[in-house]
Amino acid sequence: MKFAFHGSPQDSCMATFAKRLTAAMQDSGHEPSAPVPGVGLVFSHVDPEHIRPFRRHAQATYIIALLRLPERPDDFLRAAYPYMIRSLANLLIAVVGPEAEEETYFLTLERGYYRIAPQLDPAVHMQEVVRRLTPLATSHLIIDNVFEQDLEPELWQGDEHTAELGRAGEILDAWNLLPAPFPMQEILSPDDFRHVQRLYQIGGLSYGNLSQRRDRRRYWMSASGVNKAHLHDVGQEILMVKDFDEGQKAMRLSVPPEIKPRRVSVDAIEHFKIYREHPEVGAIMHVHAWMEGIPSTDVNYPCGTIELATAVADLVRRSPDPSRAVVGLRNHGMTITGRSLDDIMERVDGKILPQVPMS
Ligand SMILES: [Zn+2]
Repeated sequence: MKFAFHGSPQDSCMATFAKRLTAAMQDSGHEPSAPVPGVGLVFSHVDPEHIRPFRRHAQATYIIALLRLPERPDDFLRAAYPYMIRSLANLLIAVVGPEAEEETYFLTLERGYYRIAPQLDPAVHMQEVVRRLTPLATSHLIIDNVFEQDLEPELWQGDEHTAELGRAGEILDAWNLLPAPFPMQEILSPDDFRHVQRLYQIGGLSYGNLSQRRDRRRYWMSASGVNKAHLHDVGQEILMVKDFDEGQKAMRLSVPPEIKPRRVSVDAIEHFKIYREHPEVGAIMHVHAWMEGIPSTDVNYPCGTIELATAVADLVRRSPDPSRAVVGLRNHGMTITGRSLDDIMERVDGKILPQVPMS
């Protein structure tokens, strides 16, 4: 993979970090490059006073914001997350603490954050940083949508399944499992916001999703960036997923005519794989929360990537009953299958831990 740097280091500590990072990337076979269009990975130095994001030309460019926090914040997520969003980055690496005591943290768009254990030898530490970032930077998003206005008129107002989606969303809200979507529009300039929308075609960052099977091949799923406490309107809050187009790497959706549809949740590809493989799975729920004793994926691939979908589908397949599986997504949340959403809600009631373990 070709990688580049953008911006200048905040201080001497970040300059040293960048130098060691470059060496470790090269040792792993990656090639330094200028920050030109088409480069696979850009490390973007964050200047907190004056953020100038690197504007990628394609989804395929992965951006890692590099941030220096000389003082340890009380709440790392709160302190660092806005810098990642404002840098239009996919991941943030922070060097936290006073010089000589600093530690490296990773922060993901899914709000996962974890410390990379310090090592006596900085080169060994940096190898670990590269080992952890590489699978994320080389993963592949499947988030394009193709809308086809072929939804049967009798489904334009929804059916018993969309009603069940609505109920499940209300229950999640009552359980406090729907964190407020991050207010991207408030902290990005109008230009940057349009840029993100054009590139990722998302309306906002929200967390979690729900789906329920309609028939052998199709399922209803919550839309991207909507409030899951209010899932009602077909084509707006709930979409009908009918297929995955391998060639175009896009989800195919059936929508009613004459509406401007919203996009389906970025995790549609994950649900697609599970429904197609297990006809007895009737519903799937994904929340940023945890349960005692569940198996978990090893790598915290980003939401909406084929790699995350495959890792989750592998764990579902290996569970004693794939139609009633609970699978952990490392540093992120969990995906739960069931015969129906009512079945899922009944099974997990009282067992959900709001805090995802981070490692
Ligand atoms: Zn998620």
